[in-house]
Amino acid sequence: MAGETIHGHRFFIGFGGKGANQCVQAARMGAKTAMVCKVGRDVFGNDYIQNFKNNDISTGNSQTVLHWENAIVIVAVNAKVLVCQLEINPDTSLQALRMARENHVKTICNPAPAIADLCSDFYKVFDVFCCNESEAELLTGLSVTSVEDASQVGLELLNKGCGSVIVTLGPQGCVVCQSRNMAPKHIPTTAVTAADTTGAGDSFIGALAFYMAHYPTMPLEEMARRANLVAAMSVQTVGTQTSFPFQKDLPTELK
Ligand code: ADP
Repeated sequence: MAGETIHGHRFFIGFGGKGANQCVQAARMGAKTAMVCKVGRDVFGNDYIQNFKNNDISTGNSQTVLHWENAIVIVAVNAKVLVCQLEINPDTSLQALRMARENHVKTICNPAPAIADLCSDFYKVFDVFCCNESEAELLTGLSVTSVEDASQVGLELLNKGCGSVIVTLGPQGCVVCQSRNMAPKHIPTTAVTAADTTGAGDSFIGALAFYMAHYPTMPLEEMARRANLVAAMSVQTVGTQTSFPFQKDLPTELK
């Protein structure tokens, strides 16, 4: 009831923001990463930047500002891969994606948090568009409850101009759509007992960015298969960044 004092049994502060999570996962797998962001000039902002440093993420392009803005874009440096989300003004992400394209940097767009009226230019400026079921629904207006639905929205997103599309499906893995001329491919995953699925999608995208940067000729379906398995590791432990595996935790075939 409003105004009522209730007892909590647990209190936990964790680092987050989709861009940050994705960057941390890529860095833990061994990618050389940099974070471009603004954080508040306060204790939270300082801790936030320190957390990047603790994860070996370059923060030279991160700014501390008086008025906090949730402006986060991540880049896997030597500028091989740029990963953008919609946590910042989409125009800023669009500009970053265009600049990356012009400089032959591979791009991943994670349209989260999703917005229904995303400008049509957006769909044409990246290599891989990676979303979950609810984001796919919001962007296309189609409901996504099965592998077949995910294949359908993947094709719909390709029609909007996307290079390739990955729709993640929780314990069902993901669907990869590469072109109108190729059938969408379901990439199943190993079912695990999930302790906490928060951040699973970010673990998946961070892993995908790592594979794109380190194995540029690897087929997208194989990258997605591996990213599935990395994300499956993350859901078996409680927490978001705290659950993301390090390179040393990965079996050799996922390194
Ligand atoms: P989000 O976290 O954005 O909602 P999903 O729930 O689709 O994204 O999960 C992202 C990825 O995490 C999935 O594609 C899958 O690879 C993995 N995953 C999520 N839940 C499980 C699970 N219970 N078992 C195995 N893998 C999972």
